[in-house]
Amino acid sequence: MTAPNDLGIEISRRAAQIGAEVAGPVADEVDRSARFPSEAIEALRDGSLLSVLIPTESKEPPATLGKVSEAVFELGRHCASTAMIYAMHQIQVACIVRHGRSELFREYLADVSDRQLLLASATTEAGVGGDVRTSVCTVEPAGAGRIRLEKQSPVISYGQYADAVLATARRSPDSPPNDQVLVLCRPPGLTLEATSGWDTLGFRGTCSLGFRLVAEGEEGLALSDPYAEILSQTMLPVSHILWSSVWLGLATAATDRARSFVRAEARKKPGVTPPAALRLAELMAQLQRMQEIVHGTAQRYDRECNDPDVLAGMGFAIAMNSLKVSSSTLVVDIVNRAMAICGMAGYREDSPLSLGRILRDAHGAAVMVNNDRIYGNTAQMLLIHRED
Ligand SMILES: Cc1cc2nc3c(=O)[nH]c(=O)nc-3n(C[C@H](O)[C@H](O)[C@H](O)COP(=O)(O)OP(=O)(O)OC[C@H]3O[C@@H](n4cnc5c(N)ncnc54)[C@H](O)[C@@H]3O)c2cc1C
Repeated sequence: MTAPNDLGIEISRRAAQIGAEVAGPVADEVDRSARFPSEAIEALRDGSLLSVLIPTESKEPPATLGKVSEAVFELGRHCASTAMIYAMHQIQVACIVRHGRSELFREYLADVSDRQLLLASATTEAGVGGDVRTSVCTVEPAGAGRIRLEKQSPVISYGQYADAVLATARRSPDSPPNDQVLVLCRPPGLTLEATSGWDTLGFRGTCSLGFRLVAEGEEGLALSDPYAEILSQTMLPVSHILWSSVWLGLATAATDRARSFVRAEARKKPGVTPPAALRLAELMAQLQRMQEIVHGTAQRYDRECNDPDVLAGMGFAIAMNSLKVSSSTLVVDIVNRAMAICGMAGYREDSPLSLGRILRDAHGAAVMVNNDRIYGNTAQMLLIHRED
């Protein structure tokens, strides 16, 4: 196993290598058969890349969120499902690192590092749509200092391959729907019973089946802070940054194919600029916009993530929401432009420049927490937010 501090420097280079050599070659097959990209996740495990956000003995985590964002981007260029699984795992780790202050969670994080455990998420719940700030299910006392939780989860990505699931629930049977906690559900007290399949347009390798989740364990398994705080300070900004990094990977992969197409056209008629070169120049301007929004917001998070006043501010929340709606819109725009450039070579499924999987994955961005919900949330904040 590599010394943790070497990973901070190495992480994106190693993710790029895993993307190109392990995830990329099977990405089409993973997509076609909607199967878990087990070889890529094993390679990430072998490289100790699942624990790079966990502080070491020297107190500093090996990687900043910016570094993880780069790693997610590199994976996303080759297999967006692998990149999304890695991103979703890191979101759960980030929540425990900041909000699980008890000895139980310190020990659990050490276990995640040692055994390279993979963590999944169950925030969505049947009956409340995509409103993650509302829970129907509740934490119930189970006697002898233990708790029980039962949740109908319409989507838990890679649920059957995860070592634990972080689930939202009402704090107690008497709590209102928005008084929520985030509970670590882990074996041996965790049961996941599949209730629906995952035959979707894109992100097919995330295997995001529906489950009836039943968990039992000691009382301390709920993270120390209220979910409202976990969401605003960590889960929402980290999700939007890492999801956007996946989508930037998709947009870059589409752009690379468009570039290859235009260069091949140029080689056919030396001295003549192919007509599609102008469209490629337009596409590059869009890609640059997207790169700057994603990298800039990741750097902003790294600068500001230890300032509680900034994290609690509406300006920060609006910026993190804006990143999600902008990047999820830009990725579809960029892939569409690449399709217009590549023409049939992009439209065919059997061509090296095929854009089919990339286009289908790109459409997952706007529904993965619906953009209308995010606009609605930002709109409410803008009514009272006073900063420029
Ligand atoms: C690839 C992928 C992986 C996922 N993985 C997970 C996972 O691991 N764990 C998990 O918990 N979830 C996961 N999800 C679920 C996801 O995060 C969303 O919560 C879910 O997709 C929302 O489902 P929905 O579109 O049915 O619901 P909604 O968000 O309710 O949207 C349905 C419709 O209602 C409209 N709508 C409803 N209420 C409002 C409102 N207040 N404001 C504006 N519009 C509104 C929307 O615009 C939309 O038209 C995943 C989703 C995807 C695509």
